[in-house]
Amino acid sequence: MRNHPSLPIDADRLWHSHEEMGQLGATPKGGVNRQALTPEDQQARALFTKWAQQAGCTVETDCVGNLFARRPGRDPSLPAVCTGSHLDTQPTGGKYDGAYGVLAGLEILRALNDAGIETERSIEVVAWTNEEGTRFAHSGSALFVGKVDLAEAYNATDPAGIRFEDALVAINAKGPLPLGNRPYDSVFEAHIEQGPILERDGYAVGIVTGARGQTRYTVTVTGMEGHAGTMPMTMRQDALVAASRLVVTLEQIGLDHPPQGVCTVGALTVYPNSRNTIPGTVTFDIDLRHPTQDGIDSMEAAIAAAMQAEQHKGKVSVTCTVLDRDAPLTFDADLVALLKVGADSLDRPVMDIFSMAGHDACYLAAHQPTAMVFVPCKNGISHNELESATVEDLAAGVEVLAAAILARAMRR
Ligand SMILES: [Zn+2]
Repeated sequence: MRNHPSLPIDADRLWHSHEEMGQLGATPKGGVNRQALTPEDQQARALFTKWAQQAGCTVETDCVGNLFARRPGRDPSLPAVCTGSHLDTQPTGGKYDGAYGVLAGLEILRALNDAGIETERSIEVVAWTNEEGTRFAHSGSALFVGKVDLAEAYNATDPAGIRFEDALVAINAKGPLPLGNRPYDSVFEAHIEQGPILERDGYAVGIVTGARGQTRYTVTVTGMEGHAGTMPMTMRQDALVAASRLVVTLEQIGLDHPPQGVCTVGALTVYPNSRNTIPGTVTFDIDLRHPTQDGIDSMEAAIAAAMQAEQHKGKVSVTCTVLDRDAPLTFDADLVALLKVGADSLDRPVMDIFSMAGHDACYLAAHQPTAMVFVPCKNGISHNELESATVEDLAAGVEVLAAAILARAMRR
């Protein structure tokens, strides 16, 4: 089915944009450390803004730093077609996680300019603030759709005690626009897969049909500090020993929900963390994910039972608080179909794939039709300085994305 010409995507230009963006926060090991609202992030925002303006866009910023680059359509009153992702990275991140989705959108605008194509609807490429959540808990896309209270997010602090709002102001990223004032016709996001499936099965492009449910907890185990030499083993209330048992049980809960249930403890703090004091308090976070609501419910029940069982041993008290909960989601069927039509028109074989990672699109899907495409990353490695992708795969993903965006942007 060929209902529109394919866009002349410039694979080299796309590649070099990643190389140039990847210089901002570049690490000696070839990765990127560009955490949200740091000077490196400020540089990335400035570079994206410059490129978008050179492509003829107006660029606006909302009050949490989300950047909206708009290529106007023939009828600016129609809801725009949106695509984008994030420019922030993990502390030991790579060049493609996030940046790909922003630069893919930019490449589509540049290709539209090259081809002299005017669309009916405006197209907006968005760089969402703080997707990675390493410094601050709440992402710009979650705030955009009203999932999180703005005052609460502004007051949240990073590990150094800096407030989110102050960090925005510090790099001049707090804009005048209120949250969520842009109705979108549709939202698309391109992203590297961050897993091994496309590469294993030999596809350059995956059409993402849905995304995992996820629950995050913070747990506090409270025992009692004591002298490491004088307190007999049987009388101890060792919070770290109790927390360690829980960590092992949590791994088993993940293993008990195969093949896609996962349960991770990635951060743990011991108090007072002294070599000759029995640990009195341990706090840790739990991240659990499953593709189905039944799976999420079952894992949550198992976690509650594990906490209770540890408490019933009588040595420590355990409090477990939900930080946030995302239900499993299915992306918009029309947009998923449109991406497949686009791939077909390019004779590009694609596979259906499911996202076990969270993305900006997962928040945006609650408010307007949303879909995603994935491209492979080498050995499935991401959130790692070794993250790698090929020029061909990156371009193939943009071509499929462009076909769907163009079809949608040409609709009256
Ligand atoms: Zn990402």
